Amino acid sequence: MQFSGRVLISCLITNKELKKKKQEGLLFLEEKKFFSTIILPLGKGFMLVLGIESTCDETAAALVVDGKKILSQSIASQIDLHDIYGGVVPELACRRHIDAILPVIKDCLNQANQLVTDIDLIAVANGPGLIGALLIGLHAAKGLAFALNKPLVGVNHIEAHLYASLMSTHKEIVFPCLGVVLSGGHTALLLIKELGHYELIGQTVDDAIGEAFDKVAKLLSLPYPGGPKIEELAKQGDPYRFKLKAGQVKGRPFDFSFSGLKTAVMYTAKSAERDNNPHFCVDLSASFQKTAFEDIYNKTVAAALHYGCQTAIFGGGVTNNRYLRSLFSTSSLECHFPHFDLTLDNAAMIAGLGYHTYLKRGPSDLLNLEAQTRIPLS
Ligand code: ADP
Ligand code: MG
Repeated sequence: MQFSGRVLISCLITNKELKKKKQEGLLFLEEKKFFSTIILPLGKGFMLVLGIESTCDETAAALVVDGKKILSQSIASQIDLHDIYGGVVPELACRRHIDAILPVIKDCLNQANQLVTDIDLIAVANGPGLIGALLIGLHAAKGLAFALNKPLVGVNHIEAHLYASLMSTHKEIVFPCLGVVLSGGHTALLLIKELGHYELIGQTVDDAIGEAFDKVAKLLSLPYPGGPKIEELAKQGDPYRFKLKAGQVKGRPFDFSFSGLKTAVMYTAKSAERDNNPHFCVDLSASFQKTAFEDIYNKTVAAALHYGCQTAIFGGGVTNNRYLRSLFSTSSLECHFPHFDLTLDNAAMIAGLGYHTYLKRGPSDLLNLEAQTRIPLS
């Protein structure tokens, strides 16, 4: 394994980690009760990973040390670009990634006061995602790895969303645990036997949960992305006003279906508008949100019971939702959610998981690593 040996960086460290680093004879700036600020001489066993993310409509780069300590993050969001279409337009996303990719990499190096040559490993999300979008991040990563003669590792974006929860906790995770992916493109339940070993036990058969939020928002003439707007409206609404149901898949108790629910919202919205129903928008948002999340809650809890899991780790943009988090806080499962700034697509989770993937499996083949629009999770 190769490490650069130049720079000094400072970051927060827990006291348990501090003790270990002290034994290794490293330098410390300031010791506090729970966290200490330390100076890490890179090259003494620390690994600086550049993460690159461009799977959908965010171009992002991040620098992470040893899979957990985030030095810097830079994200160029494309929400403004896709808002008028009510969803992501792949061709436009791809062009915007081209403009943004080098500036975000430079920005995160500048923020952390690092040189490009200080990077020890480059981790890139090579799927799943939009093909044109993936290619931009992948080729930037390959170009850098080739020019700098540094190892490159391909990371599964969905696994990285779950890893964001592990980056956000200092607790040891007990395996097997349940992985719950709730994003704009995916809704899945996974049995995680250990980091890197997943078994898919349920997934959506039609719309992903985030997609359902975005489509319902569009029906209610709310801006894209719909999730945050629906959550905001739902706070003032009556969740019991409209009787809605999420879909059940025959013989597959842990699968999801949200397209029927979305259609029910459409018909309810039409009749509510026709009847001049006051507050229909807030009440319908609240009823939709409650129905969708209770379905996810019930299936997650049932799956945990079935597979003997006491812990669930969550990932994906929909985990931003506070109603969802409060619902799961009532369960007996130990639930781990990502830090709020790691819920949406970001490169810190890519760098974090990339570090572990590299330690376990070594580098990816620079020339043969391909962008994959779909990657099976098992
Ligand atoms: P993807 O990687 O599939 O593009 P992300 O992980 O970036 O998805 O998440 C984006 C999705 O998260 C969007 O569909 C958005 O509506 C949804 N989302 C974001 N915040 C919330 C929220 N507070 N409540 C519900 N959904 C949300
Ligand atoms: Mg995502």
